[in-house]
Amino acid sequence: AGYLNRLRRTEPHLKSFLYVSDTVLKEAEEIDRRIQRNEELGPLAGVLVAVKDNICTADMPSTAGSRILDGYRPPFDATAVRKLKECGAIVVGKTNLDEFGMGSTTEGSAYQVTANPWDLSRVPGGSSGGSAAAVSARQCVVSLGSDTGGSVRQPASFCGVVGLKPTYGRVSRYGLVAYASSLDVIGCVGSSVADAGIILHMISGHDRFDATSSKLHVPDFTSQFISRDLLESKPLKGLRVGVIRETLDDGVDPEVISLVRGAASHLEELGCIVTEVSLPSFSLGLPAYFILASSESSSNLSRYDGVRYGNQVVADEINSLYGDSRAKGFGSEVKMRILMGTYALSAGYYDAYYKRAQQVRTLIQESFKEVLDKNDILISPAAPSAAYKIGEKKNDPLAMYAGDIMTVNVNLAGLPALVLPCGFVGGGSTCLPVGFQMIGAAFDEEKLLKVGHIFE
Ligand code: GLN
Repeated sequence: AGYLNRLRRTEPHLKSFLYVSDTVLKEAEEIDRRIQRNEELGPLAGVLVAVKDNICTADMPSTAGSRILDGYRPPFDATAVRKLKECGAIVVGKTNLDEFGMGSTTEGSAYQVTANPWDLSRVPGGSSGGSAAAVSARQCVVSLGSDTGGSVRQPASFCGVVGLKPTYGRVSRYGLVAYASSLDVIGCVGSSVADAGIILHMISGHDRFDATSSKLHVPDFTSQFISRDLLESKPLKGLRVGVIRETLDDGVDPEVISLVRGAASHLEELGCIVTEVSLPSFSLGLPAYFILASSESSSNLSRYDGVRYGNQVVADEINSLYGDSRAKGFGSEVKMRILMGTYALSAGYYDAYYKRAQQVRTLIQESFKEVLDKNDILISPAAPSAAYKIGEKKNDPLAMYAGDIMTVNVNLAGLPALVLPCGFVGGGSTCLPVGFQMIGAAFDEEKLLKVGHIFE
């Protein structure tokens, strides 16, 4: 009830939810009754989870922040949602996002702008801004987001919470509205590393509805949180940490750089061997990401034709039915990305753009592999700055895209990464949280969770 009261009071200011369930109290009471009857309950019994609105939920709308899916109610739960429900979690509602996940501020939602709980005049980050703001303001316990190029990690940094992007394939994408299928993953937001890790544990694993979900064994991520290491004086003794030199460079807020360096020294105090490492291909990630993500999205979004899903305009012939439904249903950022992607994939330009970006992707994967062979984890800022003002980058997409520099490489390489708070910037009346990013080897979420848990 505490969470619901807070939700009711804060929601008019924050607007983190696109939909709030009206059965939460009833579901919670039912769990209370079962506790009284000494019934066996799931490990997440009664935990309030918010779900990003591009993840399908039966009995609730799923709009992906787009007008084209206004009123769409999927007849099924995404696998990740189904698994959480099976553990006893209660879905409290659907959180706001940039339309189809395309953006870094949540201003790109077709419905509303979400505010940052630390400063209502600032953005919560994006595209999972609603999910991060909701956890930050304690409107729910944990939330699910999606991360194609940083959408779980950058909002976690802006809102002072923990964001976990799993390895590509660790969590089923079944029921996640596709943006760029080779990069998309469902991720977890929590107010501690343990919370995010517990949720990851519950949603991981192979799923026959997603052929790209991995069959690898899912270790017990939760065992990290009762580790005896915590009692030792140097619990992370000998762990090799590489600070990525290219991420602490021009264009990054000096205050952010010093907080990340501070986090590195803290890791050193805990016993880690910290060195600087170089990823020369780092700056190539941004252009490669935007070409690949736009290309895949132009193909994925062709399914919204006004016939199979969502909104349809009245038209007297088929081409204008398609054309007008899409013209009315998609927002400007989405249209721009469809155009960019279609251009990059068109016959005359394919080799120059799409193919080249794929080659860069391979280069990035190889250079990560090389440094991760010699280091256990890599660290960097989660974003070049703390949260900025609502409206500040709205009409300057390139400035907004540039803010994704710290996160997109990780998606191109398919690696897991954890963002957690490392301090605050500002002075006087502004005090804004900043997170740093730890990147691990593929399917080694365990190590990230262990280090993160000991760090905090
Ligand atoms: N901000 C990035 C983009 O606009 C990443 C978004 C995401 O991870 N969904 O594409």
